[in-house]
Amino acid sequence: MRRWSEVAERVAATTRTSEKTRLLADELPTLSPDELPIAAVFLAGRPFAEVDGRSTGLGWATIAAAVTGLAGVPAGALGEAYDRSSDLGVAVADVLGRANGSRPETGEPPALVDVAAAFAAIEASSGPAAKGAVFTDLLARCDPLTAKYVVKILSGDLRIGLREGLLEAAIAAAFDRPLDSVKRAGMLTGDVGATAVLARDDALDSASLRLFHPLKFMLASPAEDAAEIMARLGPTAWVEDKYDGIRVQLHRAGDEVRLYSRDLHDVSGQFPEVVDGARDLPWDGILDGELLAYRDGEVMPFVALQKRLGRKAPSTSIRTQVPVICVAFDVLAMGPRGGRVEPGLDAPLSDRRERLEALGLPLVGDGGVFALSHRVSVESVDDLERAFADARSRNNEGLMVKDPTSPYSPGRRGLGWLKMKKALATIDCVVVGVEVGHGKRHGVLSDYTFAVRDEASGSLVTIGKAYSGLTDAEIAEMTAWFEAHTVERFGRYRVVEPTIVVEIAFDVIVRSNRHRSGFSLRFPRIAQLRPDKTVAEIDTVADVEAIWRGLQHGPEHLVTARAGSRPEG
Ligand code: AMP
Repeated sequence: MRRWSEVAERVAATTRTSEKTRLLADELPTLSPDELPIAAVFLAGRPFAEVDGRSTGLGWATIAAAVTGLAGVPAGALGEAYDRSSDLGVAVADVLGRANGSRPETGEPPALVDVAAAFAAIEASSGPAAKGAVFTDLLARCDPLTAKYVVKILSGDLRIGLREGLLEAAIAAAFDRPLDSVKRAGMLTGDVGATAVLARDDALDSASLRLFHPLKFMLASPAEDAAEIMARLGPTAWVEDKYDGIRVQLHRAGDEVRLYSRDLHDVSGQFPEVVDGARDLPWDGILDGELLAYRDGEVMPFVALQKRLGRKAPSTSIRTQVPVICVAFDVLAMGPRGGRVEPGLDAPLSDRRERLEALGLPLVGDGGVFALSHRVSVESVDDLERAFADARSRNNEGLMVKDPTSPYSPGRRGLGWLKMKKALATIDCVVVGVEVGHGKRHGVLSDYTFAVRDEASGSLVTIGKAYSGLTDAEIAEMTAWFEAHTVERFGRYRVVEPTIVVEIAFDVIVRSNRHRSGFSLRFPRIAQLRPDKTVAEIDTVADVEAIWRGLQHGPEHLVTARAGSRPEG
């Protein structure tokens, strides 16, 4: 692990992408069969492969207690160090480095396989105390540089300027394989470690889509207005309603059915009616769709669905209050029941849709727990705006506009799918700081400071502050969470672990130096918590800039061009 950390340090030190690739292309072939997949997954900045549903569940408070305990310094020392660098790994190295004279490492320095085993053991332990004990044992064996990278990987914040594409390029160069084959295997396996092994063994072509191994989801790019969308996708574009629920991937072979969420976790237990309903479908395969709260012929708002999220085994009463349906919009693989399942990712959307329609699912509103997404073709800006208004009248969020010739590209945010949302779109942010509120909110942490991502530097930059728009029950639940995930306290203000995603509504965006993003929001308010999204999925400064630019034409223009209806709230 020490050697891996030194290489990571060198990758971080150069801004030249060719140099980063070369450093890794030299290093990867020297690793043993056990080490290669671990090294590659760690280089992606994750403790486990993406397709692996596990996460260590180690909170910052536990990390801070272990680090300050080992270094023999006051509990606040890590927070002070963090404040200097805004980087937890650097802060840990800083604290341990300063204490190093009095704290020699104990035991054997951990090898890559030891670190991977410790991460698995942390995941398997329950409760902060048990997790903290495994972590402390690992950390005690690490010199400061190694500790820095162990923590960076654990916190999912590697920051060595190594995008996924560069890592794939390094794997291709290391084993002299075509980059396209590496990318394709990466998409299919969802595991950069497994991909590196296939590249080494010259077996990239054997990577294939497998049932019950969830694939990364294809993503959409934001579009500014109807004219831009038609210029990109015209003359004929396919338009589907954009349903406001949670994304799911359904795998089914015979009686075995599994549902996976956007972060590739198995959520089958949460939605038994969908799993049971899928057993009656006359085929095997993989569907992509959106799971919605739906009752009495009407789409229910996202807040209703939220009541069901995270409940492992929903009661009959909550299932009756908030029934769900699954609206399918794509098919990734299909075959007859009990027969051979053929993958179909490379087929154009028009062919995939034909296969999907052949399943005979009813349209949304025609009953049943499975439905087909509403789709029309449009050929002009006027058509598109009309379709937008129709989708809104069906209580949907807006439109997904798709290129009928596009393949299904797992994990990619390309131009094959463009999203058109309501005017003055909300912004998905992550909470980075909290404070106790005023008045009746005196005893709870109800004031949130939130941030978007600066893609250039990879760091989180603040954009505003809002008093809660959440219910008292939500505030109470979040207060407990923030208490347990406080990184540092400055009087009333607490820096918290940047994990909680909130959707922020606002009236106006202005350029301003008040916040690090360079923008601030007028009348920001928390529209809702987004437990279905991870910090990797929040909006970027570029997204904010796109909305800001749209607003420069004046709200009237924005209303007709981006949305066709007035903003809510
Ligand atoms: P956003 O979350 O705003 O980036 O929008 C993309 C999300 O819209 C996807 O990940 C899906 O969860 C959701 N969505 C809703 N309806 C559709 C649809 N018809 N096609 C594709 N994605 C959809």
